[in-house]
Amino acid sequence: MSGHSILYLGSGEFAAEYLSELQTLPCCTYLTRSSEFKLPEDASYIVDLVLLEVGPIIAQSGHTLSELINELAPYPVVALARRDREHRGVAAVRAGAQAYVCVDDISVDDQETLFNHAVKRGRMQSRLSNTDVTVLSILRNINDGVIVVDQAGHILDINPAARSLLGIRPRMQPDPSWEQTFCCVDELGNSYRNSADLPLMRARTGEKFANQVAIYRSPEHPDIVLSINGQGLYDGKRELIGGVITFRDVTESTRRTSELEKQAQFDDLTGLANRSLFAEQLSRAIGRSQRKSAPLAALFIDLDRFKSVNDTLGHDTGDALLRQVAQRLQRNLRIGDFCGRWGGDEFVVCLEDFGPAGNAAAAAQKLLLVLSEKYEIGNSEVYATPSIGIAVYPEAGETAERLIKAADVAMFEAKKRGGGRFQYYSSSLNTKLAQREELEGGLRHALVRNEFALHYQPRIDLMNNRLIGFEALLRWQHPRYGLLPPARFLPILESSGLIHSAGEWVIDTACRQLAAWQHRFELPDLSIAINLSPQQLVHKRLVDVMSKALTGTGLDPGCIELEICDGSLMQKRESEHDILRQLRKLGVRLSLDHFGTRDVSFESIDNGFIDSFVLDQALIADVEDNNSHQRIVRAAIAMAQGLDIEVTAEGVETVRQLEFLKSCNCNLAQGFLISRPMQADKISAILRSEIAGTSLLSRGMP
Ligand code: C2E
Ligand code: MG
Repeated sequence: MSGHSILYLGSGEFAAEYLSELQTLPCCTYLTRSSEFKLPEDASYIVDLVLLEVGPIIAQSGHTLSELINELAPYPVVALARRDREHRGVAAVRAGAQAYVCVDDISVDDQETLFNHAVKRGRMQSRLSNTDVTVLSILRNINDGVIVVDQAGHILDINPAARSLLGIRPRMQPDPSWEQTFCCVDELGNSYRNSADLPLMRARTGEKFANQVAIYRSPEHPDIVLSINGQGLYDGKRELIGGVITFRDVTESTRRTSELEKQAQFDDLTGLANRSLFAEQLSRAIGRSQRKSAPLAALFIDLDRFKSVNDTLGHDTGDALLRQVAQRLQRNLRIGDFCGRWGGDEFVVCLEDFGPAGNAAAAAQKLLLVLSEKYEIGNSEVYATPSIGIAVYPEAGETAERLIKAADVAMFEAKKRGGGRFQYYSSSLNTKLAQREELEGGLRHALVRNEFALHYQPRIDLMNNRLIGFEALLRWQHPRYGLLPPARFLPILESSGLIHSAGEWVIDTACRQLAAWQHRFELPDLSIAINLSPQQLVHKRLVDVMSKALTGTGLDPGCIELEICDGSLMQKRESEHDILRQLRKLGVRLSLDHFGTRDVSFESIDNGFIDSFVLDQALIADVEDNNSHQRIVRAAIAMAQGLDIEVTAEGVETVRQLEFLKSCNCNLAQGFLISRPMQADKISAILRSEIAGTSLLSRGMP
């Protein structure tokens, strides 16, 4: 306290009894009767602090407490009360005193801190602009926490709401170092590296800010998350003299938001980062790699033949397999490396700081081995091998997006070479990537630029060789590469999500074309088969589009056959079954495409959904010489007859194939022997000839 001049106002009993230290201080004045109270007139006599006994002496003086404190302004007043009369101290603070002391409960050190504090606060208050005084007095009583600091960072005021939020006891006053620890952890849990980012620091340097989210961490309490507003405090001459922050507890709402964010960022099935989070993490890792000149690689992992696991063992097993793959990935990555689920059976990994570029291969090799080990799921033993593409930064790509694409292209190459291996992205794959990107870019505009076309391949009834309808096959008239078959762009349509709008266009165009032919040639039974991609089956939008096309054209729904090529319907999820059910309700026919290949099992046709199936051209191609295929075709047709299901054979190229199919009582056939897929106007000519009895089809057919 040395250096401060203290004016003591009261009977002197507290001073004598408890504040004995004061007596040794210079410039102490004792006024033993309040009636004698008068502020020192000598201008050179500066009072730093007034100690005011709050007790009977005030009443005796004929003043009220607030009158007295008002009169004492602008001096900082510290009220003195006894512990058993503490309420008097509280009343004094309410009336404007800076603080109060329980004289029988304070150490010399505490007393000194408190007096020092009151002096500083009094000085600042006396300098505050009128506006700030008003604002602060309002803030004191709001439910938000309020903390006032002077320009040196001393905490001058903490309102009751702040004390209760932060768990600070009523008379406890944080020391100046508190400014450095108060909310020094940002919302992500990282300490602010720069002290200029600390909320109290920002406020007292005059920065105005709102909604800074930071964590208040104290040893006694769990972390709380605060949303903080702050600004400078100015004197009447607009000179900065401190700062004030207000804050509220947003722990609960932040928790809820972060749970929602977490849900949006993590894959439900595996708990791994999803596409967007992984891409974001990879971008950050690229930044680190750039700064440290450390290597970085992205791995794209796809499980070979996952689809057949799903189809043969069911979606639950497929899901369990994906979860186990995710666990194996996580367990086998080094600390610092991270992974995510890109979608379906695709996973992505980022390797950081792995030393010479070749080391990425060692990591990929390790993942290859652990992911190829046996999976035990329920009672089943499942084997799955991965194909892994590796793209090293920055050679393969400089952004997260390009790097992942490059890894994807390399993975595709690994798959093409038989799977169960890894493949580095190389510049020779660069052309492929560039082409893929170009195609993807082009596909985004293909619809509006009217570049899609449908070709129609005739289908005949094998009983009489008559045309019964067509299969609609998508083509893309690419401005640079010419007419492209689906194999060139369908995978891109599917992986980019563009399949939905393209698929809608196909349904709409095919239906309108069929309606036109039916009408023009008076062939009401003419039918059309439309191919669907698996992705289309998960959106209810498909049902709406189909229904709209039917109403728009007035077509008999029985003339439409939707070809599904996705494996076993038995094990599809309920939501997909629901869409199939709704499609059937519309009256359209459902057909299983590519029947007889690995992806389709026999049992899937006996579930009431399917009206027909299409024998895959791979079976037909060598049916003349392949006994096994002959047996399969025969058995499939016999089974279909038993189930009252129609069978179409696809890819019929030779008369012998056709004869064989007829001998098995196959219902319908389609193939180059009968006709290649053609544009609509050529089909019109065929229809005309059909009606005239001069069929252009089936020339040379048995
Ligand atoms: P798909 O449904 O099996 O269609 C039959 C494919 O076999 C067609 O190929 C057709 O041109 C070809 N083809 C027909 N007869 C013969 C033959 O005698 N010999 C040989 N070697 N091939 C024959 P395309 O048009 O290239 O279509 C390939 C696949 O693309 C289709 O197989 C179908 O799965 C898919 N696709 C075609 N259009 C669409 C579409 O609009 N949407 C969807 N989601 N997929 C489509
Ligand atoms: Mg088809």
